[in-house]
Amino acid sequence: MSSLLIRDGVLVDPAAGLERPGHLLVRDGVIAAIDPRGAAADRVVDAAGALVLPGFVDMHVHLREPGFEHKETIATGLLAAVRGGFTAVAPMPNTQPVCDSPQVYKLVLDRAAAVRLAHVHPIAAITTGSRGTELADLARLAALGCRAFSNDGQPVEDAATMLRAMEVVRRLGGVVIDHCEDKTLSRGGAMHAGPEAERWGVTGQSPLAEEVHIARDVLLAEAADCRLHIAHLSTARGLELVRWARRRGVAVTAEAAPHHFCLSTADMPGPDPNYKMNPPLRPPADRDALVGGLAAGDIDVIATDHAPHADAEKARGFQDAPPGVIGLETAVPLIMDRLYHTGRMGIGQIALACAVLPARILGAPARSLQPGAAAHLTLIDPDRPTVIARDGFASRSRNTPFEGWRLRGAVRATIVDGEVRYHIN
Ligand SMILES: [Zn+2]
Ligand SMILES: [Zn+2]
Repeated sequence: MSSLLIRDGVLVDPAAGLERPGHLLVRDGVIAAIDPRGAAADRVVDAAGALVLPGFVDMHVHLREPGFEHKETIATGLLAAVRGGFTAVAPMPNTQPVCDSPQVYKLVLDRAAAVRLAHVHPIAAITTGSRGTELADLARLAALGCRAFSNDGQPVEDAATMLRAMEVVRRLGGVVIDHCEDKTLSRGGAMHAGPEAERWGVTGQSPLAEEVHIARDVLLAEAADCRLHIAHLSTARGLELVRWARRRGVAVTAEAAPHHFCLSTADMPGPDPNYKMNPPLRPPADRDALVGGLAAGDIDVIATDHAPHADAEKARGFQDAPPGVIGLETAVPLIMDRLYHTGRMGIGQIALACAVLPARILGAPARSLQPGAAAHLTLIDPDRPTVIARDGFASRSRNTPFEGWRLRGAVRATIVDGEVRYHIN
């Protein structure tokens, strides 16, 4: 028997309508009581001034192992996760080899279990090698517990193949996670097509590439009666399509990434590869629409799309650098500063978007403060200042556009299975 008392925090549990000061007792990895009588425990965490939230789940990350360990490893990625307040992450399958088989799926699970930091819920590829032709053995992956399937950066181009995949995923009780990009329209564009791209001589990518793909796949999901989750939604019109599909009763959810709701093309200092991601940063009106969508609950989830790349890879110049930015260790301060302190989202809404809903969509254990729930918890200091500094990251990579940002809000502790896996000094 081991016990942990989290004392004097503000307990936040949106599913239970809870938001008030209190104490939480954890015993053997499980929430035992809210406001327990008596205060004896093996370990006490002082949560005075902190918010005690259901454990955050980042449902869109790239851990790069196996195959690209110079960018990130499961160990460094999961250390970045717990330092960023995340109790679980869902890594995308674009590793080498691709996570399209029980062997690779189990390898990721085993290495993560050995690290004992955050949990992982690997996302498996929809098609073998993410090539878009043959379906992967989705049933065998599901038998191992996999419920989320995605080709992330290599979206399934053939509509009939996607429809067939959705029919299988529906029978397996899973969800298709969709990187929406019609490659015949994006044509390798390195940033949003607009005046900045023209000025800097960078190839532009039309937002139509994302929007056409969203439109196609909400219709396919309706036909297949399959759950569909739109990854890294970035445009106002894409959000309109999600709203339209929901009104029709399509089981579609969506996520937005901090870089898309904090930055726009207007923030780009020039063709700096740390501002290159896919989908690209959009004009300010799209960024504002994403904030509105999060505030309204039409965008269900905040996910980082943590995409580490080595400095040398990002140094190839804007056109040739790989897209993506790291996000695990910058998300919480950005969310608190840009959404909470601005009054756009209440803390209960943030707990839904960062913990409750991503866990539910992935089929992961419920994030809750109620007795009986697994003790996965994120403690946040809402007012503690954070300065984003590339030298302070646990991630193996440093590619962030937020270097030097001063933000209000910081992770105080991350608790997984009732164990304190990260705590500020
Ligand atoms: Zn993607
Ligand atoms: Zn991604």
